[in-house]
Amino acid sequence: MVRKVRIYPDPVLRKVAKPVEDLNGEVLNLAEDLVDTMLAYEGLGLSANQVGSLLRVIAVYKGEFTGREGEAQVLVNPEVVYYEGEDVDEEGCLSFPGLYFDVKRPYLAVVKALELRDGELVPVEITATGLYARVLQHEIDHINGVLYIDYLPPRERMRRLREWKEKRKQKLSV
Ligand code: ZN
Repeated sequence: MVRKVRIYPDPVLRKVAKPVEDLNGEVLNLAEDLVDTMLAYEGLGLSANQVGSLLRVIAVYKGEFTGREGEAQVLVNPEVVYYEGEDVDEEGCLSFPGLYFDVKRPYLAVVKALELRDGELVPVEITATGLYARVLQHEIDHINGVLYIDYLPPRERMRRLREWKEKRKQKLSV
């Protein structure tokens, strides 16, 4: 089921999500909804917070990196255990429609998680680089209540948010 994506400054975006203790119906529903919603909004990733749930679950659109259309990956309790390098690229976020800017992040990230495969949780350790590493880090930030705007210097953050809100107001009032 496609859920409504929460838009900044919805307070749920600043909450720290709780670890998943066991694979129950709530988690399975959330995982399915995350994938449906991510695909419907054509996002590269989506976190539980963004659909109003506070469990540590994220979805990543792997099709973008593998070329297999529609392929999504659901990770439970993901954490970055190692990172290195540096990479600057433009980032967007479904919770900030239309707001894009460059964010500096490590180029490589090793992520430990439980991957949901055919209704089971499989321990995985993913070594990701480039855009894949970027998306994983962006989504893991979300379940920690961290947003990509936090990487901007305070003055620039205020300016960009002001412009973004202004643009949205105009768009919504047309
Ligand atoms: Zn985001």
